[in-house]
Parts: sequence; C-alpha cells; structure tokens
Amino acid sequence: MIVLVEKVRLSIGTAVQLGLESGTRDPDFTTAFLMTFREGKCEANCAFCPQARESSASSDRLSRISWPEFNLNAVLENWLPPGQFRRICVQTICYPEVVSDVIDIVGRLRQISKLPISVAIHPISKTKFQQLKDVGVSNVGIALDACTADLFDRIKGSQRDAHYRWETHLEAIDNALTVFGKGNVTTHLIVGLGETEFEAAKFIVEMYQKEVSVGLFAFTSIKGTSLENQPTPELESYRRIQAIRYLVSKGQLDVDQIKEQSNGFITLKIDKALLREALSSGEAFRVTGCKGCNRPFYNERPRGPMYNFPRDLTQEEIQQAIEETKLVG
Ligand code: SF4
Repeated sequence: MIVLVEKVRLSIGTAVQLGLESGTRDPDFTTAFLMTFREGKCEANCAFCPQARESSASSDRLSRISWPEFNLNAVLENWLPPGQFRRICVQTICYPEVVSDVIDIVGRLRQISKLPISVAIHPISKTKFQQLKDVGVSNVGIALDACTADLFDRIKGSQRDAHYRWETHLEAIDNALTVFGKGNVTTHLIVGLGETEFEAAKFIVEMYQKEVSVGLFAFTSIKGTSLENQPTPELESYRRIQAIRYLVSKGQLDVDQIKEQSNGFITLKIDKALLREALSSGEAFRVTGCKGCNRPFYNERPRGPMYNFPRDLTQEEIQQAIEETKLVG
C-alpha cells in the first residue's frame, strides 16, 4: 500500500521564501530545501548532528538551521513561480520508509516544477537509486562527512554504535555514479572533525578523480550533540582546503603538488602569482555543492566568520580570503 507523505520539514529560509513563515525574503536564496519528516530521530548517530539517535538537540534542527514542519500540500500550494529557485534539495534522515517517502515527495514536486532536484541520502541499493532517478531526481549526495576511514568510524560508524561503514558509503557512491552519471553525484566533507589538512586534501583529490564533487562544510558545534564542545576549524586552514578543492575541481592541481609541512599545514608547489590569479574570481570561497546551491548561513553565524559565501564576493573580500589561505605570501 502506498502511503502518501503528509508532512515535510522546510529549512526556515525556504519557509520564509514560500510565505509559510514570517520574515524578509532573500533575493540570494536560490535553493529550496526540504527534509523528510519523521516523529523522532534519525536511526543513525552521527556525532555532529542534532538529528542523531542519541542527540538531545531538538528534532527540528540540522546543522545550525531550524527546520519547522509543514503539510506537504501546503508547501506545494505555496510554491513560487519559475525563476525564484534554481534547485530543490531534499535532505533525508535515516529510517526504513525513507526511499518511498522521497519518491512520493519528488513525484509531487515534479508535477509543479521542472527544476533540478537533489537528494541527500544514506547508502541505498542500486535499484533504489534507479527508482529515485526514474521519479525525477537529478543529483544524489551521499555524505561521507569525514575524510578517512578511521575518522568516519569515530564520527558516524561503529564507534557511534551506528550501522554506517566507510566501505558501504564508498560503494554507494560508486553505485550512484553508475545510475546518475559522473558529475551528478556529490559528497560532503566537514572540515574540523579532527582530520589533518593533508588528509582532507587527499580525500578531495580522490573524490574528484571519481568525478564526485565535494561540498565543503565548516564544523559547527550544536548544543545537545556529542561534539557540542568541539571548536570550529581555523579560518586559515579552511581557506586552504577551499582553495585546494577549487583548484582540484578545475583540474589545476594534482596531489603531487600538495605538500604537508611538519606543523600539519599544507603548502602548494605552484607558482604564487599563478595561484593568486587562479583564485582571483573568489569562486573558491563560495558555497560548494550542487550547481545553483548557496545554503545561506548553513554553518556560518551571521556575525561571521564567513566560511562559505552564499553570493559573489567583493574585490576586497576576495583579496582577504586569498591572503587568509597563507598560500600566496
Ligand atoms: S544520517 Fe544524516 S540526519 Fe542522520 S544522524 Fe547522520 S547526519 Fe544526521
């Protein structure tokens, strides 16, 4: 029996854009964010996540954003005319019926919108990936979040009494690639979970070798999660990882050009003037993920620091961000 989805969560910014919450609409808001709704928590237990099984944070949080619940029909009735959004992103939490819920949500969105639809989901079978594609999903994200197998185990896997495994996530990424095609699969990397810069850089290179794009997030501590006392990453370190991700994604940097120093920081074997030129658009420091996604203030506090810019940077911001990498001095 097919059960129609009654409720979904919307990111608070999306709810404001749709007029379902009061607030000022943001012209820079380009992606509509929905999340599957479930009474209770996710069955996984990621140490950073307010949705995690053992987290005592409120269930309407993901990262530092609140996600109030709405009737799906009300969301569809209030959908904005074409031109307002550039992408729809459906976030999921892990529970048994999640794939059928996503199929229903995407199917109903497809009746009113031709926009590309991304789904962020845990590992599922190739058949289920195909079902998502058949209903109209354009891109899929499988978040590794941590950049080494050991760290994954500590943050999301067996040491968290969770069923996630590094190998299964990698296998799911490969399966997603066969279904959705190269360029249509993403993963997430949270910087600041305890990795070294070099480990993060190596991970980024490996993902782009598979043509999997990497969405970068700066770790943000959320009260009620296991990592609530963990600090955010150093901005300079984050800027270096952003620069590396950008250059690797453009095919302008190879793993052999990334060198680890004794203090754990990385340097690049690349001409400094060329590097400055390569970073001069500022794109390296913008939100990364699927095309058209800008996630305003997803892991930034409005007072800063601005880890990921949701808009074009000013010339001054670009120069400052380039200096902050400490790769050009
Ligand atoms: S699978 Fe996603 S929603 Fe569930 S605990 Fe991990 S990060 Fe949070």
